[in-house]
Amino acid sequence: MASGNVFTQLRPCHAQMNEYVKKLITCPYCQVYVTPPYRQCSEGHLLCSNPECRKSDTICFCGRPIIDFEIKRMKLIYDMLCFSCEYEKNGCKAVIRGKDLESHLLNCEYKNRTEPLSPRRSSV
Ligand SMILES: [Zn+2]
Ligand SMILES: [Zn+2]
Ligand SMILES: [Zn+2]
Repeated sequence: MASGNVFTQLRPCHAQMNEYVKKLITCPYCQVYVTPPYRQCSEGHLLCSNPECRKSDTICFCGRPIIDFEIKRMKLIYDMLCFSCEYEKNGCKAVIRGKDLESHLLNCEYKNRTEPLSPRRSSV
């Protein structure tokens, strides 16, 4: 059992920073947090995994070309961000680091109340 809430361990300025970075990685179109791998267009927009938020595989929603490399440092930042669980509305009180978020969402005991949106689909 995890003891304590990661948010309560953060100092106010750290909590603010956490929220600030989360805002920066939010897709302006679908309002979801953009998850790694991070790619951006030449204008600096981060691209979410939702194909509807871009014009094509190589063109961002703003019409500029998508730069063809991954921003690896952004993943390191994402790993350490604190998120509340997507199923908070169902009663989950967990606060999860970015790197553990995906596995938490897969195993969250509150998730069965609603159908989770899967941002990535494996076609294996
Ligand atoms: Zn989006
Ligand atoms: Zn763009
Ligand atoms: Zn949860």
